[in-house]
Amino acid sequence: MRYYVLDLDGPIYPFLANLGPVASKYTGRPVEEFKPHQETWSGFMDDWGISVEEFLTLFALGVHNENLLWEGDAVTGAVNGWLKLATDPDQPYIHVVTDRNPFAAVNEAHEATNYWIAGQGLYYDAISFRGDKVDAVRENIAAEGLVEADLEIFTIEDKPENITAYQSAGWNSYAFDLPCNRHLNVPRVATLEDFSQV
Ligand SMILES: [Mg+2]
Repeated sequence: MRYYVLDLDGPIYPFLANLGPVASKYTGRPVEEFKPHQETWSGFMDDWGISVEEFLTLFALGVHNENLLWEGDAVTGAVNGWLKLATDPDQPYIHVVTDRNPFAAVNEAHEATNYWIAGQGLYYDAISFRGDKVDAVRENIAAEGLVEADLEIFTIEDKPENITAYQSAGWNSYAFDLPCNRHLNVPRVATLEDFSQV
């Protein structure tokens, strides 16, 4: 059985593009100063002139007070790609693994995530809100009574260290192609729709 591991922010939800207006509102600075920056993984914080703590605060404010995670169009090809996986007659397993844990609004972020996915008409078998993604996948496989060696695991991810961790686990690790991960020697896809055809 195929087992797909989907990252949300990047391949499916345009997180930074939607965080930008929130950052502008709560810092009082022009929205033009908060463009998505994807040259390096965390380089947007330097670009935007915010610390990790400020990022997490803006993330939580966006979820708590604004429509961050709750609303917003999916990334191009994401809905079609996900639907192709979900309606595949071979019935692959779909596991969403996302590290959406802004400390001041964790439960709301998880609720918003499920609300948005349902609103897109999408479906999954399991969801994990975890940063340690390989462990999250392995724990879910065990919880489902599945055996890793029997599965063909395919992952899509944009964060370099997660892409590498999936590769090290021996899985079919695909990069969602962004400048921040172009240094990695892995297969890459431009859209989730492309991923659904690998
Ligand atoms: Mg991501």
